[in-house]
Amino acid sequence: MDALDVIMNKDKIIPYFQPIVSADTQLVIGYEVLARIELEDGVKSLGWFFKDHTIPDEYRQEVDEYVCNHALEKFLALEREAKLFINVDMNDILANDGERLIKNLKSFESKGLLLSNIVIEFTEQDFNGDFSLLKHFITYIQSLGIQLAIDDVGKVGSNLDRIALLKPNIVKVDLEFLEGDAFPQLYRDVLYSLSLLTRKIGATLMFEGVGSFNQLNYAWRNGGRYYQGFYLSRPKPTFQEVDFCKDSLKKEFHHFIHYERKKIEAQLVLTEKLGQLLKNSLKKLKSFYNYDDVVMHISKELNEVSFRIYICDHDGYQQSGNAVKGENNLWRLEEGSRYKNWSWRPYFLENIVRMNYERKGLLSDLYTDIEKDEMIRTYSFPINDQLYLFVDIPYNYLFEQDGLI
Ligand code: CA
Repeated sequence: MDALDVIMNKDKIIPYFQPIVSADTQLVIGYEVLARIELEDGVKSLGWFFKDHTIPDEYRQEVDEYVCNHALEKFLALEREAKLFINVDMNDILANDGERLIKNLKSFESKGLLLSNIVIEFTEQDFNGDFSLLKHFITYIQSLGIQLAIDDVGKVGSNLDRIALLKPNIVKVDLEFLEGDAFPQLYRDVLYSLSLLTRKIGATLMFEGVGSFNQLNYAWRNGGRYYQGFYLSRPKPTFQEVDFCKDSLKKEFHHFIHYERKKIEAQLVLTEKLGQLLKNSLKKLKSFYNYDDVVMHISKELNEVSFRIYICDHDGYQQSGNAVKGENNLWRLEEGSRYKNWSWRPYFLENIVRMNYERKGLLSDLYTDIEKDEMIRTYSFPINDQLYLFVDIPYNYLFEQDGLI
């Protein structure tokens, strides 16, 4: 099928609607409009047609408006509170200062459409015009009550700084391109930054391309509020019922919560166990005068759990050398880090204050150790209100226990 076939068969083009479900109510909050063409040999997506810039602009715009108007008419007839997500190419839209789009939407407003139920989706990295004009236009449409979603975020080339400047209402992350259920660590970390960013700028994080149970779990764990994808529902020529997946989603959330709860419990159990071990171990010491002796003494008791142990004062200056586990489980003392300051590290001061206040140890999140280049956790423990012990736990140990990675 080529562009001409599409134009010749315009009457066979119809809008399909894919439901978007919210985690908080487990109900459909809206539908994304997707262009489909119903030919004798089946229904085909027209996604390629809108992305192909060798097709003359007027053809693409003609089909785009045709689909959009049909979608808006059906949406008006729905007479139910929902949002309609419409895809646009901002290069085309801004070619006439956005006037065509606004005029069209306003004509539907006079028929009863609430502009606050419209979400405009666009892909930021496809935009190649003047960024300040884009920002200006987005601010304008948001002032009309229209919401803005940035599409395809998280793929190569999406700029977090631009997203922050544009202040979208919704950030859409596509999970579809992740093959199978394997999620590379790097991508997890990118998503983590994205979930922090959306939280900071007051945007809603949404996952599309949710194609499996594991991807849904992933979306839920990574702060996704809205979900869209084949796993929930394929796009349809009609609007899915509002509660079509409420029961199944509730069951799935129950699994997710049960599993995460087990993980949190496992972390608390380890925290408790290490706290007890250290208390007993420190009792056996006559004095804390020689910090190197303290860490070497503790290393014997924590041989199985740790690969590196050291002591810092409450300003973050390291007071001992590093007790480090080498070949054959033999521990030795490394001088290099003594008197270095670690207060600049994320969470460091907060953790010191917390330990001092709560008088008990803390287990960190999983993070990559710079020297070892592997995922570890650190257990920290207050010896007294001046000295803090840090116990680095290797990936091997965490992996062998349930629920620690
Ligand atoms: Ca889209």
